[in-house]
Amino acid sequence: MESLFEDCKLVRERLIQQGSAGIAVDVDETLADSNRYWAECLRTRFGNPEGLTASEVITKYGYCHKVPYWQGEELEWVEDHIRSSNAKLEIPVIDGAVAGLKTVHSNIPVAGYLTGRARTTNDGTAEWLSREGFPLAPILAGPPKVALKEHGIDGDTWKARALEILFQHVIGTIDDKPDVIESLHEDYGGIYFLYSHAHYQGSKAIQVICCPTWNEVSEQVLAAGLNPVQVEATGHP
Ligand SMILES: [Mg+2]
Repeated sequence: MESLFEDCKLVRERLIQQGSAGIAVDVDETLADSNRYWAECLRTRFGNPEGLTASEVITKYGYCHKVPYWQGEELEWVEDHIRSSNAKLEIPVIDGAVAGLKTVHSNIPVAGYLTGRARTTNDGTAEWLSREGFPLAPILAGPPKVALKEHGIDGDTWKARALEILFQHVIGTIDDKPDVIESLHEDYGGIYFLYSHAHYQGSKAIQVICCPTWNEVSEQVLAAGLNPVQVEATGHP
């Protein structure tokens, strides 16, 4: 299990050495409009029997891989795109994400991009982040699916364990996925800024701050008063 978190431990060590703290940030559906882009590509290439727009498909089914009539070559197209490092460069940025994250970064630095993307696509992700003007920080990408399977965990659980390892030097995360919260242990002390959600009803006593827009993310991070110097001095945000 230890080998799944080597990159996270390196980031944690660096923060300890620097006596600083930071925040983690997810990539897909938080910074990158991946699912909507794929829905648009699938609709253009393969059509949509219901005559729905990409946005309507997402509203109705959520992720592309859940659309019942996009399970054949459509799904293969998406899987190929997910595995491709170069294809990351095609994905549009979510509205307000660059300005919002720059504001966050000036308050509490981005410690790493904690993403379920495969490590083999890190080059494409790094180039995309840099091209779009996002703050420079390490990419903490998911282990191969086979390694996760070997350890009996899924991608959300891996992310939750990573956040626990990184705390208290990484005081929390900005992520669009509520499922990760459910995988965190009750005693996780970080803050989960839940992007693109107006409500969260979970069973855990974890501090979740819903941020429907990136404007809200930057406002809420600032309002939380996450001062790295304070973190260094007290060990707690
Ligand atoms: Mg995401």
